[in-house]
Amino acid sequence: MFEGLSDRLSGILSGLTRRGALTEADVTAAMREVRRALLEADVSLEVVRSFTEAVREKAVGAVVVKSVTPGQMVVKIVNDELVAMLGTEAGIIDLNAPAPVAILMVGLQGSGKTTTTAKIARRLSGREKRRVLLASLDTRRPAAMEQLAILAKQVEVESLPIVAGQSAVQIARRAMEAARLGGFDVVMLDTAGRTTVDDALMAEAAEVKAVTNPHEVLLVADALTGQDAVITARAFDQRIGITGIVLTRMDGDSRGGAALSMRAVTGKPIKLVGTGEKVDALEEFHPARVANRILG
Ligand code: GDP
Repeated sequence: MFEGLSDRLSGILSGLTRRGALTEADVTAAMREVRRALLEADVSLEVVRSFTEAVREKAVGAVVVKSVTPGQMVVKIVNDELVAMLGTEAGIIDLNAPAPVAILMVGLQGSGKTTTTAKIARRLSGREKRRVLLASLDTRRPAAMEQLAILAKQVEVESLPIVAGQSAVQIARRAMEAARLGGFDVVMLDTAGRTTVDDALMAEAAEVKAVTNPHEVLLVADALTGQDAVITARAFDQRIGITGIVLTRMDGDSRGGAALSMRAVTGKPIKLVGTGEKVDALEEFHPARVANRILG
């Protein structure tokens, strides 16, 4: 994760810290390199612009007040701006609502939505001792429903029995009812994915949202798709309203552009990241730690 960017930034910033005094021109030149490094990491142009401008302004100010170690000051400013760009709070799933709390999982097909649903269920039932019910609303793909049932067994949580012929909204209602009657704490609804953002997909997810009143709407997006993941998140947020993002395949993403742009572009936090195919490959997203890793 972030290897390429991390190497580039360390190179640029150590060039600054090695020098005793810095001029405004030094800072401007360094920011030009930072800008190039971020663009090569596939960070969105608007995010790169506002980031480098914020750092430049603050850094020039720091240089002007003749800080004892101007280079260190610049590194600290870059670090703080990275954290601001990534969001300040740690990514946790909010279950603070009357049970059963509904979590709606949305995203494109192949993003890792079903796997992520099982990973989160495992975490909530294991670590947080919640009773979790899983339900697949993917009425067009029976295989996807089966897959969720199999994953549910694997992570030792219950899944809603599959009844053929029901619509997504009917299944969602049945899941909420089963959860109420069965005393479940959490219901996770795995909505149907499509290969592209289409109207039917959005309308169905919006309808499910309206009848289940979810406390969290999590968009699952594939980090490897870079800026497409960010565009997808924005589209889902505009149409359905999301509360957070889970970025999958971070294990294969050495550039990090989606992770770095997501918060600034969508305004929504990355709550968790998927780091592998196994059901335990899920990590919380801590902006400060990520910034440290990038600059480390
Ligand atoms: P869905 O169509 O969005 O429900 O996608 P799936 O959950 O079926 O996942 C598609 C593929 O991506 C599967 O082979 C998963 O094992 C894999 N996958 C999901 N999350 C991750 C991840 O974080 N890292 C890696 N390497 N693979 C993942």
